Amino acid sequence: MNIPEALRAICSTHEGYCWFCDSKLPAAESAIAEGWDVQRVAGDRVASIILVCPACLRKKAKRKRVSAPPLPARIQFDLLRTRTPRGRVLPAGRA
Ligand SMILES: [Zn+2]
Repeated sequence: MNIPEALRAICSTHEGYCWFCDSKLPAAESAIAEGWDVQRVAGDRVASIILVCPACLRKKAKRKRVSAPPLPARIQFDLLRTRTPRGRVLPAGRA
């Protein structure tokens, strides 16, 4: 995807906002200079395009490095347990 091209197209609609923090997309040339990003996100039925401002890009990059540490075994076990269907059937007519 041609990002400057996409930024210009989005700017022309005057409806560009950062997907994460709702910052307003500045004029196309400023957005390109500031390093706004356009990303494709696979949706349920159609792929959509999101805008990401430079501040959120930096935040995301930082978060990516520290996020998703391996879960402690105990928590993993709890998650597994809560996801297991109980399979219990409530007796009818005793509410
Ligand atoms: Zn943002």
